[in-house]
Amino acid sequence: MAILEKLSSKDAIALEDKYGAHNYHPLPVVLSRGEGVFMWDAEGKKYYDFLSAYSAVNQGHCHPRIVNAMTEQAKTLTLTSRAFYNDMLGKFEKYATEYFGFDKLLPMNTGAEAVETAIKICRKWAYEKKGIPEEKAKIIVFENNFHGRTTTIISFSNDEGARKNFGPYTPGFVKVPYNDADALQKALETEENVAGVLIEPIQGEAGVFRPDADFIGKVKSLCNENGVLFIADEIQTGIARTGSLLAVCGDCTCQGHCEKQATYQRPDMLILGKALSGGAYPVSGVLADDEVMNVIKPGQHGSTFGGNPVAAAVAMEALEVVRDENLAQNARNLGELFREKMNEYIAQSTIVKLVRGKGLLNAIVINDTEDSSTAWDICMALKENGLLAKPTHGNIIRFAPPLVMTEEQLLDCVQIITSTLKKFEK
Ligand SMILES: *Cc1c(COP(=O)(O)O)cnc(C)c1O
Repeated sequence: MAILEKLSSKDAIALEDKYGAHNYHPLPVVLSRGEGVFMWDAEGKKYYDFLSAYSAVNQGHCHPRIVNAMTEQAKTLTLTSRAFYNDMLGKFEKYATEYFGFDKLLPMNTGAEAVETAIKICRKWAYEKKGIPEEKAKIIVFENNFHGRTTTIISFSNDEGARKNFGPYTPGFVKVPYNDADALQKALETEENVAGVLIEPIQGEAGVFRPDADFIGKVKSLCNENGVLFIADEIQTGIARTGSLLAVCGDCTCQGHCEKQATYQRPDMLILGKALSGGAYPVSGVLADDEVMNVIKPGQHGSTFGGNPVAAAVAMEALEVVRDENLAQNARNLGELFREKMNEYIAQSTIVKLVRGKGLLNAIVINDTEDSSTAWDICMALKENGLLAKPTHGNIIRFAPPLVMTEEQLLDCVQIITSTLKKFEK
């Protein structure tokens, strides 16, 4: 088989079934091209992308500026490893730290690696700066969290599918209910040797669960009062997705970091991935100030590909695009419009219970049991009608289009979604 041979959708699915591990259950659509908010399947049918690769493609598919930065750098120098310096990494580190307002960046590749990095830094900080006895550090996490797929990270998941038969599990994590500041306070009072609190400002994989407006502020205050690190996993929520640069920015609409802003709940460690590259390339990283980041010394942590020149070029351009195209503002405006239109529909619907979210990270909850196939069937019908979305947790459908969408396109999508849902009304 020639590598460039064009496959039909049927053949492509058959190949994955036969030769690939079955670790995903994809919607049966085979995509072969993307541009902006659109993707095309192998037969040329056009779709609106309403997943954005789990919010990695915030800047839209194949953004010309990002693709150009990537290909130019790929022709020049791709990988040196960190055994040597390269002339792109320092530029990226300066750019990213100024962009997000931290002293230092530790670059990695995937989200899970960045979460692992933050966990390691937090523990090391706890032993070396806080004097917690060796091996005793605990990190508080939240029920229904999603932070990735490594053995340590799934150790503190409560998703049976993600956990079962992957033990023995990594100790050192304490789980408390999300959106429950009292439970967190109690855990901080009763648990010994707490080093940090790891949190998603909005739980994406759990079904776009948005906590009360004051919850993240309370988490930060409790962390400060107890001298533990406040660690924000913004891999899915960050980089304009929720209508501000970061979800921890609260209702701030500025495009940068503004520490004076009262709504900004600045984390001690910020974890980014996904849209950090606009979906062009795996780039992730952890941002922190010197006091925390400097616990990592040469030889103590690393990654062969982390901070490679292509990643650096791609990430800088991807972040520049977010600013130049006002993507946070656009996500905020279109998100409000989307929820308003969906609420109009829901007012006379029996099949949809509610819409929730922030910016362009939204979900609808289908009025059926979690083990029903209704949400999947709706996604199949949406696919037929030219819009791609995926259920999460059985009866929830996440809606997260690229942030480069126009108002006209969004209204077109609302039309597709509502007319599809109508067919499922009882
Ligand atoms: C996607 C995601 C991760 C994991 O990122 P990968 O690149 O898939 O390893 C971690 N945390 C959150 C909140 C995510 O949404």
